Amino acid sequence: MNIILLGPPGAGKGTQARFLEEERDMAQLSTGDMLRAARTSGTEMGLKVAAIMDSGELVTDEIVIGLIAEKLDGGSKGGFIFDGFPRTLPQADALGSLLERKGEALDAVIEMRVDDEALVRRITARSTCAVCGAVYNDITHPIPADGKCSNCGATEFKRRADDNEDSLKTRLMEYYKKTSPLIGYYYASGKLRSVDGLGGIDEVKSEIAAALDA
Ligand code: AMP
Repeated sequence: MNIILLGPPGAGKGTQARFLEEERDMAQLSTGDMLRAARTSGTEMGLKVAAIMDSGELVTDEIVIGLIAEKLDGGSKGGFIFDGFPRTLPQADALGSLLERKGEALDAVIEMRVDDEALVRRITARSTCAVCGAVYNDITHPIPADGKCSNCGATEFKRRADDNEDSLKTRLMEYYKKTSPLIGYYYASGKLRSVDGLGGIDEVKSEIAAALDA
């Protein structure tokens, strides 16, 4: 099964992708994670995109389509979860072509709906484990009291450079201008399922499971 998690920054796509990986043997493909890895390892492309990412704007379609094309070649037993990709109509068209070329299809697009106020609250409270990337939130899902990641036991946590109010404003504008048209695009193809992303993590998880197994 190949699915897209579609939603604004802070909707909980990364958190839910991790559950799907564990429970369904699927592989998460997050272009945001791939770009951050390229920055950390100091590749030419990583350096080129660093300032754009920090500002909250989107990097070029060409770069992210190239990253996804490379990963799709690796294959995945349970299928792929596209997280943060596609974010523009040309990216959506490219994903369709890439899957078709592999003889595969896109099975569902899960739209995670969360209002802007909640997004700002969530994002400014967000941190991740420096080792395994598990996502925490000071309000809804705090780091355990013993200071250890509940997934891997590490004790170091970090906040993303673009998780601040200025970048977030740009990221939200980019979402509404360039990514939200994908809701209509996938609705028209009959693949769109919308879930309420405002509930607790487990509630959202059950809604997604119900949408995928319907
Ligand atoms: P994310 O971790 O998905 O929030 O992505 C972080 C940043 O990486 C975004 O604000 C963009 O600058 C860039 N990015 C990630 N995925 C894409 C994409 N599919 N298209 C363009 N830019 C992207």
